[in-house]
Amino acid sequence: MDDHRNRFPHLPERIAGLGELAYNLWWSWHPAAWVLFQRLDRLAWTETDHNPVKLLRMLPQSSLAAAAAEPVYLRRYDAVMAEFHRKIQTQVCWFTETVTAAECHPIAYFSLEYGLHRSLPFYAGGLGFLAGDHLKECSDLGIPLVAVGFMYPDGYFLQKINADGWQESVDQKLDRDAAPIGRVLDGQGQQLTVQVPFTDPPIHVAVWQVLVGRIPLYLMDTDLELNDPAHRRISDHLYISNPEQRLLQEIVLGIGGSEMLVKMGIKHSVLHLNEGHPAFALLERIRERVEDGMAFDEAMQQVRATSVFTTHTPVPAGHDVFSFDLIDKYICHCYPMFSLSREDFLKLGVSPTDPPNAGFNMTAFALRLSEHHNAVSKKHGEVSRRMWQPLWPDLPLEQVPIDHITNGVHVPTWLDPKLESACNRHLGPEWLADLDNPAVWAMVEDIPDAELWDMHVRKKIKLINAIRERIRRRWVEEHVGLGNVVAGGTMLDHSILTIGFARRFATYKRADLIFRDLGRVKKLLNDPFRPLQIIFAGKAHPADDPGKQILQQIFNLARDPELGGRIAFVENYGEELAQDLVHGVDVWLNNPWPPLEACGTSGMKAAINGVLHLSILDGWWPEAFNGLNGWAFGGEEEGNDARDAENLYSILEQKVVPLYYNLNAEGLPVDWVKKMKESMKSVGPVFNARRMVKEYSQKFYQPALKAAER
Ligand SMILES: *Cc1c(COP(=O)(O)O)cnc(C)c1O
Repeated sequence: MDDHRNRFPHLPERIAGLGELAYNLWWSWHPAAWVLFQRLDRLAWTETDHNPVKLLRMLPQSSLAAAAAEPVYLRRYDAVMAEFHRKIQTQVCWFTETVTAAECHPIAYFSLEYGLHRSLPFYAGGLGFLAGDHLKECSDLGIPLVAVGFMYPDGYFLQKINADGWQESVDQKLDRDAAPIGRVLDGQGQQLTVQVPFTDPPIHVAVWQVLVGRIPLYLMDTDLELNDPAHRRISDHLYISNPEQRLLQEIVLGIGGSEMLVKMGIKHSVLHLNEGHPAFALLERIRERVEDGMAFDEAMQQVRATSVFTTHTPVPAGHDVFSFDLIDKYICHCYPMFSLSREDFLKLGVSPTDPPNAGFNMTAFALRLSEHHNAVSKKHGEVSRRMWQPLWPDLPLEQVPIDHITNGVHVPTWLDPKLESACNRHLGPEWLADLDNPAVWAMVEDIPDAELWDMHVRKKIKLINAIRERIRRRWVEEHVGLGNVVAGGTMLDHSILTIGFARRFATYKRADLIFRDLGRVKKLLNDPFRPLQIIFAGKAHPADDPGKQILQQIFNLARDPELGGRIAFVENYGEELAQDLVHGVDVWLNNPWPPLEACGTSGMKAAINGVLHLSILDGWWPEAFNGLNGWAFGGEEEGNDARDAENLYSILEQKVVPLYYNLNAEGLPVDWVKKMKESMKSVGPVFNARRMVKEYSQKFYQPALKAAER
């Protein structure tokens, strides 16, 4: 990667390490590290949206020189840099102590999206954050892993709601020089480019790198002059709708990504596919072996034994199916190479559950060509085994080889920093090293009620201030109408019971469920003594008109005076807003249509912060709900709007509202705080990325590494 010293020539030598730190996202989950940047200039830190690369470029020489001459700053700087280098370089770690001490080639992790930080808009939603949290945890545990994805210059999209309440997507152009990404250089000092094998005209990718602690994430970009004009746009943005462009994107990800690793001299022993999009990487692994003279069947057995596949959704639109014609057009070189007839090859991607001739199903293909597969919650495991049983017609349902590893969130990323430092005081300074131990979280009881509540109220104020500032800017800079200003959250009040509902606006998430009986919800919102307010946020996919219609309906309710100014819709949901919401609302609402929520992770982020989960029993919640740590409704069976809405209203009316407004003599909602602690204690030690990555390592990576050795 290019040398960070050349990137910030005006950075004084004494604090030159800040340049290295700015290009490693390790800083983002270590408060002592980001405080180093914040202390350089608080206003600029806010202005740059917590982007240290931008910050260091923007600050005048004088501010940097002042920091380099301040003894207190330098002491902190030295401590952080020592800790950073120790963590990044240390050889002994959980992985070498528990999984294998033998030298091994890394595990290659492929994903179409990564949610790591707001400065890298390479995500659309949960799948991306799951991948991002996976990388951070692999770094913490010392798991040898390299990650592969795309550098999308247009990211996903910026969401703006127009005067009619309709979502408009605005392109956001990434400033490559102001993002924490670096060019990977070739022997001549030029940015490395790689040709995707078997593309005609050839498709080339430029290689970028993001450092996530110890883990390198290599990103491909097709926007090169070298490429055919149509091909330059392959890596434009996430989730292109055009099937042919989408297929090309997945060819570049799977096949180009594998070639990129080879060109960098990185041999991988195990392949982990995050969802079906990168499944063509399996083909490339087989091709390498066949080219070395191995028979197809043997090559396939080797590849299966060393490949891991995680399926993330039962929603049909989440599984790519490409027409056989398109596969013929781009993949036909494989048929003779593998000594397979066209029919035999295409059969690898036929799903018995699709209509005949539907095409090549990437999930079916990935399931056939990998041995280790999993769903992402216990319930999703059951749903997936039922869904994919036709692929194993001879096996009884419970033996269908799809295991489950329930998702978890990276605690240092999602825990509010103030709460983290309170935990450092009350749980012991080393508690994060042992965060998957229930005994550690049990000490949450030692945080005084008043301290926990006070911290929570401050976060709520911070959230509401941030929301108001967003809409103030829209009003000042773009003169949006007053209706939009109201809907954007101007009237929010921190003393009121606040529900958060933020996620992608896919229809199955049922954002509008709570409005099914408008009279009943108005009563809750407008109660003069015990009111309720709800904050909504989320993007609909640009091609999803039904999703946009639900959004429009909610937006229009938000500016209806009848609802008392108690509904807000906040634009442009992303990592930054997600952080404020999961720290600062009181209740996290989740009411998808069961059984379509494979897992869900935003509720976990909320729950570890003491934000109480109010959820349908779908995804992860049946595993986590213990009767005390939040509320559950709806059976585990199919959804039913009327029944589910009725259950939601009665829980709100009879349980949530009375509990929140029940104060003791000091004005403290003691029973509520008790539930907050129960939420942290029960969710914290289990639904975290540490437990999740350990499970991947022990269930899958370990046997796959053994198979790779043989
Ligand atoms: C965690 C997260 C998600 C995923 O939330 P779900 O509950 O799984 O839908 C989506 N977007 C952002 C910005 C997140 O932080």
